[in-house]
Amino acid sequence: MPPPLIELVSIAKTYKTGKTEVPALQDINLEIEAGEVFGVIGPSGAGKSSLLRLINLLEKPTSGRLRADALELTALNPAGLRRWRRQVGMIFQHFNLLTSKTVAENVALPLRFAGIRRGPELRERVTELLARFDLSTLAQRYPAQLSGGQKQRVGIARALACRPKILLCDEPTSALDPQTTKAVLALLNAINREFGLTIVLITHEMDVIRQVCDRVAVLDGGRCVEVGPVAEVLLHPRHPATRRLVLESEKVDETEQGKDLAQSGGPIFRLTLRGEATYEPLLGSVAQAAGVDYSILSGRIDRIKGVPYGQLTLALVGGDLSTALAQFAERGVHVERLR
Ligand code: ADP
Repeated sequence: MPPPLIELVSIAKTYKTGKTEVPALQDINLEIEAGEVFGVIGPSGAGKSSLLRLINLLEKPTSGRLRADALELTALNPAGLRRWRRQVGMIFQHFNLLTSKTVAENVALPLRFAGIRRGPELRERVTELLARFDLSTLAQRYPAQLSGGQKQRVGIARALACRPKILLCDEPTSALDPQTTKAVLALLNAINREFGLTIVLITHEMDVIRQVCDRVAVLDGGRCVEVGPVAEVLLHPRHPATRRLVLESEKVDETEQGKDLAQSGGPIFRLTLRGEATYEPLLGSVAQAAGVDYSILSGRIDRIKGVPYGQLTLALVGGDLSTALAQFAERGVHVERLR
């Protein structure tokens, strides 16, 4: 296994405002692999922005170690820090474009900062970026003349101008409508594959994690309460904070759900299916073989990064329960007893 691209070891961040201290992050240990899309989710105030700002050292940790690409980030001198920041692009919820500059000038800005001030090298790179992000016809427009999706494409083109290794995304779709959100997330997936770019994305929306991320960390009250592959964390959440976020994204009211479950007789199970198995006929044949009857209490089919999954909550009544469970297991269905 190659070493992780970014490594946070026992990181803490405390803000001091006057005499009060705000512990924004505590004992964070995370490893982010090169080439992955790593999501960080949590409610407002959980510490997501603080975590993201540590990675490009807009903030310094109060304690702990921060390593990236074999560099000890907190030990960098100003020149080293400038070099590191060039490896890291960033996009923002509100795009942060310069309103007095055209699309082409916005995209050229990081190149100028990096010392490529004029000439064919600058022109060629800007032309290439505008073409890649479908912005060529908008090159001379100003940000106020663009839609939200177009502005975020300019943000992405600008962030990638200096060919960074890492792209930090700060709630990149929170200001966009659902259709545009889908398009921007698809674009992030595409550039992750195309350039082997490592993406670290913070969001408060589970749907964003579901669509674009490989792994996710859940922050709650400044602590990382769960981390793992998206399918693991979303389909089998262990921490109450994760469960809350998942149920919220599925628009399930926990109290109402509890009432529904209480009304049904028999033991209750949650079945999770993944991949093509999601679409296979299952319940009828298992019920018949085991002589059990069932009632469906809730059900959902969705996708995680394009791979389908299904989750069903069932009450099983009568028959041979152990045969039913063995048959589910045989078909690769994950079964969890809820009651
Ligand atoms: P999130 O991005 O998850 O909403 P933040 O990282 O912005 O969380 O904030 C975590 C905590 O740190 C919050 O309590 C917030 O008020 C506090 N905080 C963030 N930035 C500052 C700052 N510059 N000064 C003081 N407190 C801050």
